[in-house]
Amino acid sequence: MVCIKTVSYRFNLNGHHSEYLQARRGLRQGDPISPLLFVLVMEYLHRCLRKLQDNPEFKFHPKCERLGITSICFADDLMLFTRGDVRSVQLMMDIITQFSAATGLKASPTKCRVYFGGVGEEVQQSILSITGFITGSLPFRYLGVPLMSRSLNVNMCRPLIDRITAKITHWTAKLLSYAGKQQLVKSVLFAITNFWMQVFHLPKCVTKHIEAICRSFVWSGKAEVTRKAPVSWKKVCEPKNAGGLNITSLSEWNTATLGKLLWNIQSKADKMWVKWVNIYYLKNQNFMTWQPKNDCSVLMKSLVACRDQITQTTYWQHVLQDGCYKTSRMYHSLRGDREQVPWRKIGFKNLARPRSQFLMRLALLDRINTKIRIQKFGIQTDLQCVFCAEQETINHLFFDCRWTRGVWVQMLQWIGCQHNPGNWHDEKLWLTREASKKGWRRQILKAAATELVYALWQNRNSIVFAQGTRDDHILDRVKFIVYTRCCRHRILVTHFDENTLCVE
Ligand SMILES: [Zn+2]
Repeated sequence: MVCIKTVSYRFNLNGHHSEYLQARRGLRQGDPISPLLFVLVMEYLHRCLRKLQDNPEFKFHPKCERLGITSICFADDLMLFTRGDVRSVQLMMDIITQFSAATGLKASPTKCRVYFGGVGEEVQQSILSITGFITGSLPFRYLGVPLMSRSLNVNMCRPLIDRITAKITHWTAKLLSYAGKQQLVKSVLFAITNFWMQVFHLPKCVTKHIEAICRSFVWSGKAEVTRKAPVSWKKVCEPKNAGGLNITSLSEWNTATLGKLLWNIQSKADKMWVKWVNIYYLKNQNFMTWQPKNDCSVLMKSLVACRDQITQTTYWQHVLQDGCYKTSRMYHSLRGDREQVPWRKIGFKNLARPRSQFLMRLALLDRINTKIRIQKFGIQTDLQCVFCAEQETINHLFFDCRWTRGVWVQMLQWIGCQHNPGNWHDEKLWLTREASKKGWRRQILKAAATELVYALWQNRNSIVFAQGTRDDHILDRVKFIVYTRCCRHRILVTHFDENTLCVE
């Protein structure tokens, strides 16, 4: 039986300086070491370790020999690799001692671990006594992600889920509007997940769970997973011109990030990982036809599993031609062409505030929770419109209702549009037609319609939930918001009278 003897160390260096460094750099005991100085010091360590290669007594870690790797370092996290025999470890520790004496940087024994693989009990004890460190066990975290030999499970992804939950439960997140929450999900949560996706194929249950957290945060502002959502998450992940909110679909993004690794292997990129994979797994075979063995790394198996899906996209052909891989373009290629919604142009270059645009989008999808709609979900409520006595449907609210219709007609007169309003269905068609035409008046119309729908809905909510009253100055307020939003547009603002806010 062949027994592979493996051992690797993990050091955490503490910022303790020798008298030499103190004298040369004017540092005092306990001062933090500067990043540049640290890089120089670590470079010195690597140079010392490289001398081991020439020593016939030193044996490399079996999977590091052909690349001559003895150490990997990032910031103050250092990993050392050697074969699991006492002599090799002794030689390596001699270098470390010499390095500590020269620089004053010492490995703190409480933070250091030795990881054994296939090393006998007796040898393990000798190695531990030489190093003074304790035995560690997989998985451990390196650069924020877990390192392990088996596939990633839900428990190992816990830190990722916890970090996302922590971001959401932070008090500032509670004060955000729908549009703000959507933006937070898009940027922060995605950035955290994306970091893991660069190196892992996340299990489906994990991506589903993260999406559930994001979904309930967008709609309810809480991290606890709830079921209420006016729009399905699948719809939310659609691009804006297909009626969605353009939030990234995690599972497809993960496939696209793995595609980047696949391209690195295929193009033989100048990276240590690619070289290592080629030497120990591919052995100069073509990756496109290569089949992994059972003892192969989990990541390589994941790459093979999604190989066909990636290479069958149209974008892969572009990558082969151009020699350049963009994850976002692969993502769109994986998603394919989406069916566009006719009203997409209403949201295109709309000057209204993001929160108003978000609500307008829900209204255009007919997903506003009017009283008739929530009754269908089994919630008991009166069905009366808050502005008159008729039943509250979306068609009634925009703009069959006598009062809201009056406001909308005045708004149209203010912009200078000749139009006799109908219900929401008619108005959607009309606005869609108007939005596809050119001209500054349509620009103002798009923003004004969006802001008015938002303002009316806010007024309606304040009456339903906070004993508010009908806002008879709503038109003036909306006009002012539209004017201030149009001020961002140099040409558009010239069409307003500054004192009366009249549109010429
Ligand atoms: Zn009404």
